[in-house]
Amino acid sequence: MKPVTLLSLLGGLSIGIGVASAPAVAASQGEVVALLQKADETRNNDPKAFISLLDRVASLEADLKPAQRDYLRLLQAYQHSYRGRYDLAIKDAAILFKQVTEPNLKFRAGILLANNAAITRDYSLGLRYLSEALDLDDGQIDAANRNDGFLVASVLYNQLGQYSLGQHYAERVMAREPTAKNRCVARHLRVEALYGLGSWAKDDLEVKEAIADCSSQKDVIAANLLRGNYARHLATQGKITEAVALLEQNLSEVEATGYPRLIGEMHGLLAEYRLIQGDISTAEAHARAALAKGGDGNFSLPLVTAHKVLYEAALRNGDVSAALEQYRRYAEADKARLDEIKAREFAFQLSRQELQQKNQAIELLQKQNEVLKLQQEVSQASARNTQLLLALLVMVLAAIGYWAYKIKRVQMMFRRQAEMDGLTGLSNRRHFRHNAEALLQRCAGAGRESSLVLLDLDHFKHINDRHGHAVGDWVLQQVAVAIQAACREGDVCGRLGGEEFAILSCGSDMEAARRIAQRCSEHLAAIDTSVIGRPVTASFGCTTSARSGYAFESMFAHADAAMYQAKAGGRDRVRAYGEGGVGPATVLELVRS
Ligand code: GH3
Ligand code: MG
Ligand code: MG
Repeated sequence: MKPVTLLSLLGGLSIGIGVASAPAVAASQGEVVALLQKADETRNNDPKAFISLLDRVASLEADLKPAQRDYLRLLQAYQHSYRGRYDLAIKDAAILFKQVTEPNLKFRAGILLANNAAITRDYSLGLRYLSEALDLDDGQIDAANRNDGFLVASVLYNQLGQYSLGQHYAERVMAREPTAKNRCVARHLRVEALYGLGSWAKDDLEVKEAIADCSSQKDVIAANLLRGNYARHLATQGKITEAVALLEQNLSEVEATGYPRLIGEMHGLLAEYRLIQGDISTAEAHARAALAKGGDGNFSLPLVTAHKVLYEAALRNGDVSAALEQYRRYAEADKARLDEIKAREFAFQLSRQELQQKNQAIELLQKQNEVLKLQQEVSQASARNTQLLLALLVMVLAAIGYWAYKIKRVQMMFRRQAEMDGLTGLSNRRHFRHNAEALLQRCAGAGRESSLVLLDLDHFKHINDRHGHAVGDWVLQQVAVAIQAACREGDVCGRLGGEEFAILSCGSDMEAARRIAQRCSEHLAAIDTSVIGRPVTASFGCTTSARSGYAFESMFAHADAAMYQAKAGGRDRVRAYGEGGVGPATVLELVRS
């Protein structure tokens, strides 16, 4: 017997029914879509028209667009299935399911594959594709396709004895505005699931309504499968007569379907009930009918029932050898049926396990992804922080550098201000003395003679008095330039105050000191003094370490005494300490004055 499948339910009946006239020749590629759709629509109720339309489209295959070619291939897979070439249907549907991206085509290919796998009793394959198809985004699947898929799911799960799932998918169809035809099938599947679960409703209203619905839809197969379940229910309540009446009333209708599973079931049930009623010959007749017309499988329930009835009938008739033979067949069929049930159970558990593993693998991948994402975020954040820290460090260092530089400059400025004479830019008295003492120390260390030249401008007060203080300042600046020009490299010079200047030279004896004073005098004479109307002159006093020692104080006092002598001698001249009456007595005189 053929297993129950949606294809059997929806398509099986129509095969062999009269076919519409040959379709019109496709005039253009534009009509291909219409032809494909028409073929799809006739697929369930007019198989011959379907095949003819399909051949027509196939002849135009070279002109088809890729999506149309996929659609054609799906319909051809249905065609293989209708012709009993389930292996080809599975092969084509598997290729389509893998290659096609359009959700509806993919979904239908998956469902078709699941259905055909169920027909060939490859339940694991069927369940795998069923779950993959049902996993596709529900929102992208057309209502009609989705309901077809749910019906296949319900049929398959009922077939596997997983009635809760069978009920679930039947109810999903019923809840989603099914077509009248699908509603009838869904009701039948729900009733079948409820019977399997043993949770048949207390009243018979639901099954009666479902039978009425399917009858009005002219779905003879679904209506009578419902009656079969109703009869079983009646029998369990001891209402054998009612059950027999229900089945016999519709037997001719059942026979007319030519559908082995249904015919087998009805005769099987009648055989069982007639035997209970004691009508052995009728029971035997039904049992033989079940065996003859109930399909070729040796594992179906009607087959088991039929052999059991024949065995008991033979026993009651006293035909022991027939009874033994029937019992052997009954035992065989029963074992085959139990094996089949076990195989289905195993397939279901296997698919559950596969699904669980798949979900666990997905979950693991998701977790790994999350961890990777977090790691990425953390490393990005720490990179950002490091960058910020570096930027901050650079800024702080730059600020410190900038302020250190600023402070240094200010310090240097203050130092220069503290060391320099503001008017002439020469060292002031304090700084001159500091430099001079250092130089003298070095000269003394090196055993070199040093000289000190002091000079004081002559009658400078007159310039101030006659030409003003500003002109006096200008003269002082010119004098400073002149003195610097007269100095040798390494000499130390400075403004000691007022109009008094000094030059200390290392490696210089009295002659050299005179030459320095002489050069100074010449440079002063070279100053353009047209503003004041007379040349600038100075009186010079010189001494050397040879005469005064290396102590700054004594050199200064001696040079000053010499300079005093120059003044006294008429100004604009050079006097050397220790010559021409300039000696310790003069110094004493100076100290006293
Ligand atoms: P002598 O030949 O005897 O040295 O006469 P003198 O006029 O040069 O000397 P005195 O000491 O009488 O006068 C020095 C003057 O220098 C007095 C002071 O006003 C002036 N002087 C001192 N410092 C400055 C200054 O920085 N600028 C100006 N313009 N004058 C100054
Ligand atoms: Mg003076
Ligand atoms: Mg003077």
